[in-house]
Amino acid sequence: MPAPRDLPIYELESAVVASLRAQGRLIVQAPTGSGKSTQIPQMLWRHGLLGEKGEVVVLQPRRLAARMLAKRVAEEAGTRLGEGVGYQIRLESRVSERTRIRFVTEGILLRQMSFDATLRGVSAIVFDEFHERHLYGDISLARAVQIQQSTRPDLRIVVMSATLDAGALRTYLAPCEVLVSQGRSFPVRIEYLPKAVNFEHEPVWEVAARECERVAAQTGGDLLVFMPGAYEISRTVQAIEGGRGLRGFVVFPLHGELSPEQQDRAVERYDARKIIVATNVAETSLTIDGVTAVIDGGLARVARFDPHRGINTLLVEKISAASADQRAGRAGRTAPGVCVRLWTEREHGLRMPQELPEVKRLDLAEVVLTLKASGIEDVFAFPWLEKPDPAGLARAEALLADLGALAGERKTITDIGRKMLRFPVHPRYARMFLAAEERGCVRPVALMAALTQGRSFLIRNVDKRTEEAREELLGEETESDFFLLMRAWRYAEQASYGLEACRRLGIHAQGARQVGPLFEQFLGIAEQEGLDVAEKRIDGAAVRKCVLAGFSDQLARRLDGGTLRCELVHGRRGVLARESAIQRAPLLVAAEISEIGRGDGEVSTLLSLATAVEEGWLKEIFPDDFRETRSVVYDAQSKRVVTRRERRFRDLVLEAKASSDEAPLDAAAALLTKEVLAGRIKLEAWDDTVDQWVVRVNRLAEWFPELEVNPITDADRATLVEQICYGELGGRALADKPVMPVLRDWLTAEQLAVLDDYVPERLVMGNGRKARLTYAKEGPPVMSARIQELYGIEGRFAIGHGRVTVKFEILAPNHRPIQITDDLTNFWREQYPKIKAELSRRYPRHEWR
Ligand code: ADP
Ligand code: MG
Repeated sequence: MPAPRDLPIYELESAVVASLRAQGRLIVQAPTGSGKSTQIPQMLWRHGLLGEKGEVVVLQPRRLAARMLAKRVAEEAGTRLGEGVGYQIRLESRVSERTRIRFVTEGILLRQMSFDATLRGVSAIVFDEFHERHLYGDISLARAVQIQQSTRPDLRIVVMSATLDAGALRTYLAPCEVLVSQGRSFPVRIEYLPKAVNFEHEPVWEVAARECERVAAQTGGDLLVFMPGAYEISRTVQAIEGGRGLRGFVVFPLHGELSPEQQDRAVERYDARKIIVATNVAETSLTIDGVTAVIDGGLARVARFDPHRGINTLLVEKISAASADQRAGRAGRTAPGVCVRLWTEREHGLRMPQELPEVKRLDLAEVVLTLKASGIEDVFAFPWLEKPDPAGLARAEALLADLGALAGERKTITDIGRKMLRFPVHPRYARMFLAAEERGCVRPVALMAALTQGRSFLIRNVDKRTEEAREELLGEETESDFFLLMRAWRYAEQASYGLEACRRLGIHAQGARQVGPLFEQFLGIAEQEGLDVAEKRIDGAAVRKCVLAGFSDQLARRLDGGTLRCELVHGRRGVLARESAIQRAPLLVAAEISEIGRGDGEVSTLLSLATAVEEGWLKEIFPDDFRETRSVVYDAQSKRVVTRRERRFRDLVLEAKASSDEAPLDAAAALLTKEVLAGRIKLEAWDDTVDQWVVRVNRLAEWFPELEVNPITDADRATLVEQICYGELGGRALADKPVMPVLRDWLTAEQLAVLDDYVPERLVMGNGRKARLTYAKEGPPVMSARIQELYGIEGRFAIGHGRVTVKFEILAPNHRPIQITDDLTNFWREQYPKIKAELSRRYPRHEWR
């Protein structure tokens, strides 16, 4: 089949070629059906832009489109599929040494870039359907630009789209030309439902079949119906075939889960009128000729990060207004057409104008790992076309570190990380596959991966009867909620997802049905990587170890036996779901974590889909994250030094044990000293007299330097306290410990004798009384005495053989100081007469000489 030269894109042929000869970057904008995807790669080939043997890689967002385009282009170019033209999608590859045009999807190109930064053999890269803003499109483009700027200035980059706001992209790619073709299209009349329909009550496929019937009677061409997924499509096909008004029509489903033959059948031409029921693959990726009417269900499966499961998941959501316009356009390709939207005009006004780019809504762990493998250490500084949320990037790095794929301060890729890249799945599952490969349990692990993709199909909080039926048919479970779920799925599968059988066990039949194809997909990926996927007897512990490998970031330890409260790694807390079968395990991983708002405004974290794990496994799988420490600490509660033995997994304390024996005495003394100096432990024997003794020693050193006494500094004081504490662990024994024996050791025997002689505690006065002296850090020694005690005493006093004058603090009978002096004779003569009258009046019962 020759290339159809009358397609609108040929207006641009010479411009495309000239532009790419002059400059390595180009944006091509032309409506769907113009011939971008099929013709532009061929133009590059024909005009020698691929060199002698080089290839053009065309990145497609959809697998189905990649395969069908390759087939079509191979036919047009007159080569066999897999020879001159081929494709490479997850699980399927038709390429050879001779391939010049290669259609690829998802991470295949990015992975190739991470293994070979020079992209040997690739002459050009075409980014198709760029308006969809798929994560891999964005990132592969950024990488391609980097490679073009560094190692491969000759690399040609073409970005194509039907509807693209080229402004921002053009700036990003500058210098870069934009070539636009208007294409040809005919007007499409838009019809809305007059009244909103609740698809919960009237399924969307029934509404669609009814509208098909109505529209088919009014138009002449083929019909295209948009539905979100395989299941809705098959129900729609059934509903159409069951209706009377559409006899004589041929009806075909079109989606990614069909066999290639079935997919081809949908785009072939027939004598009878045709109805195609498709996913949004038919929105812009594939053009089906002859369609004049579109019935749009308004829904699509959209990939989105699901924080409950920490992975990307497909959710059925309402499409944006821009997407709806693209779908409508499919009716006006060859003649005027009609598009019926299965929603109201009012509701249309409430729809999002545009989808968010995937980089803004998907988990980034997989691409971050691929970037790290390409040598891009700082993913925050990567030239993103649109910067993702930094928190999302940090989350991706943290998860990868927990999986063992990144390590170190700079989060560089590890051997495990590189091995994980083999599997084109989310890093969680890649890690699980690695663990499963080692332990020979790939099959159950693939099933578990499939089970975590959709919402749980086991309905929560079922009635007593259903609970009993579950127990009877599925048996008891204590190791993992996954095992129960696996048995429930087997049961549903064997019952062919019959509604009645499923209802008996509280199984959501539709949810269970979706697991099968996913399971096959995961098995396929494992098999492609050479893993042994044979059915074997399941070793429960091995499978649970694999769960741990993939979900170690959600490890939880039960806080007590009485409640379901748990402590998790990364400082989180949560509560194990009541319906979990794993009620006894002290240690578990939760595959699902959801935050639930409670009545009181607080948020509680619910852990479900739990698997019991054992501590030894943590050591086995994550030896670097497991720590056993022994530390000597002061326990404020018991006021004792204890030895605390702790086992931690990352920041989660698995077990902490304290015992007071066997603490090394040095460490204990140091800890106790800190407490004593901070005033938190009181040494009863260290009273004012002891403080005075210390001051006396210090003044002795100061006043009589020739005696060569060392003063007691704050640091010395700590040393002394440490000596006092030595041998104790705290408690009463320490509080009651005598201190003077240690202090006295500070001085030699001679110095001790000199201390009492030079800086005495008391002074004997002329009247025979012994009076206490007070020493302060500064100033002279002070003797305080009431007037009556000083009668008959005259003159000055001194200590230290007359070298340090003593000050008198003369007190009234109430012990209030009334005078400070160093000469009593002077006091009696000068001051005393002036105050005597006043004092004797106030204290008449005392003696006043
Ligand atoms: P664009 O990428 O601009 O949307 P395509 O290159 O996909 O356009 O398609 C150009 C034309 O080639 C379509 O209008 C259609 O007629 C035809 N075509 C493309 N793929 C197929 C196919 N698999 N089977 C039949 N016709 C096809
Ligand atoms: Mg296209």
